[in-house]
Amino acid sequence: MNKATRKTVIAGNWKMNMTPAETTAFINELAPMVAGKDGCDIVLCVPFVDIANAVEAAKGTNIKIGAENVHFKESGAYTGEISAKMLNACGVEYVVIGHSERRQYFGETDQTVNLRTLAAVNAGLTAIVCVGETLEQRELGYTETLLKYQTKMALTNVKPEQLANIIIAYEPVWAIGTGVTATADQADEGNGFVRAAVEEMFGKAAAEAVTVQYGGSMNAKNAAELLSKVNVDGGLIGGASLKTADFTVIVDAAQ
Ligand code: PEP
Repeated sequence: MNKATRKTVIAGNWKMNMTPAETTAFINELAPMVAGKDGCDIVLCVPFVDIANAVEAAKGTNIKIGAENVHFKESGAYTGEISAKMLNACGVEYVVIGHSERRQYFGETDQTVNLRTLAAVNAGLTAIVCVGETLEQRELGYTETLLKYQTKMALTNVKPEQLANIIIAYEPVWAIGTGVTATADQADEGNGFVRAAVEEMFGKAAAEAVTVQYGGSMNAKNAAELLSKVNVDGGLIGGASLKTADFTVIVDAAQ
């Protein structure tokens, strides 16, 4: 399997934006703009409170709905948390795990990323697992080591057959929400390190089959160049996923 046969996935990460009413309006506007564009899977990862509206508005369209986080326990005394089973029951198909904002502000660790990943895939969700180096780590020359470490930690105890439900998003921390995009070659190289880690754990065929996205200031202008790279199988998009026109241009670039 190679880029031509791997699944390309364009996923928006709305972060802490949009009310339920805004969600309905956004998807009603986006749906006709991306209708029939099935060269990639199209996903919107939305805040928990927007899920019901998003799932309803996306019915009968080619837009799939994801969440932005998931707890790793099935149920119990975890006030304020949401389980994978709950998300599944609400019609959610994808979930972002280990986003750098969660690592930076909410105490997310490689261990909890791994637990959340296992919980998600065991419940039948597709996990979009985020990895990425800070600028300091890049400047010290640790990018490859760190990306391989984060990838292997996240995939610990994942069964080979569950890899089909895992997407890895390489998101250099210095490129997220900053307007500074990795060059297409940097994105390709980072995604290649992630793929190499998958190969070291699961073998060549698994590494060739796994979808690896790039994320970090991907937008309507730079998407085509980033997505042309052999190791870039789609994008995880923050800011540009909040505008239907920009998001559609990125979907078009992935066709
Ligand atoms: C993200 O939130 O994962 C992201 C990549 O954000 P942005 O596109 O705004 O950099």
